[in-house]
Amino acid sequence: ARKKLHKLKKTPAITQDGVEITLLANIELPQDAAHALEAGASGVGLFRSEFLFMESSGQQHKLPTEEEQFDAYRTAVLGMKGRPVTIRTLDVGADKPLDTTEHNILNPALGLRAIRYCLAEPQLFLTQLRAILRASAFGKVKILIPMMAHGFEIDQTLAMIEQAKSELRKEGKDFDAEIAIGAMIEIPAAALSLPMFVKKLDFLSVGTNDLIQYTLAIDRADHEVAHLYDDLHPAILQLLQMIITAGDRAGIPVSICGGMAGDIRLTRLLAGMGFRELSMPAALLPEIKQEILNTRLDALQGHVKKILRSYDSTTIRETLAAMGALSP
Ligand code: PEP
Ligand code: MG
Repeated sequence: ARKKLHKLKKTPAITQDGVEITLLANIELPQDAAHALEAGASGVGLFRSEFLFMESSGQQHKLPTEEEQFDAYRTAVLGMKGRPVTIRTLDVGADKPLDTTEHNILNPALGLRAIRYCLAEPQLFLTQLRAILRASAFGKVKILIPMMAHGFEIDQTLAMIEQAKSELRKEGKDFDAEIAIGAMIEIPAAALSLPMFVKKLDFLSVGTNDLIQYTLAIDRADHEVAHLYDDLHPAILQLLQMIITAGDRAGIPVSICGGMAGDIRLTRLLAGMGFRELSMPAALLPEIKQEILNTRLDALQGHVKKILRSYDSTTIRETLAAMGALSP
């Protein structure tokens, strides 16, 4: 079994009818890059950088310095041995509090979090952007911005990145001048205003955890409403379809990095809808790859269309089950 897994590691995830799906890993610490490689990831689709901040704030209420961050990002980049690493800028707030004061806020998930927090703390944001840019001199790095909803957030973020670049240029520090910049699509407003995003950014990544939370108005951390957290709700499927369609039309890559990407029940549906990049915890990657190897996309198209046309939960689930049972 070990030998088989090892062979699987080197096999690309290509469906029986020849469509390649790029499988990427989600990591939380730079050392996780080793596990990602071991699992056969083609790169890191989501490096949740906030864990660096939460660790140091928990210990001594001190933010990581530019050098500490640079070191962490470079470790992840070098660890991936030339494969792309998508570093998400600080996504604190709500379920990832930076300090204890946030617990007093009534609705933290709707508060000053992620990009909102970073734009309100430009010095902190600039420090992180400089560290990420410096790491981009050591391999293929992409910058991913969480929780964007407004056009001015895109503009301000791009301006901050330009500022970080020009500072580094003056200091003679190396970075990838062509670094790709993308947005997480995880607020329904963003999914409903995609032309704003595809015009100015290089790629999109769907954060299904938050997209579901905000679309269905269900706190993702509240067990009492966990039974209402439904990734097959027609509203979620419609939004996903809008996102992949807008990305394809604009010719920019769209990945999924939320929990749906690592859910084997959904692999065929997502691939059938047109998603070609899935990012997930490394441990789930081999089974998702096996599922892709066992899939024929052309045979699924009727089922996918039926699911996307349906607003009936039973029909959606029955069709999904029928699709799962199809053998290539
Ligand atoms: C998401 O929201 O789906 C996501 C990938 O980000 P996080 O889970 O870190 O909020
Ligand atoms: Mg999120």
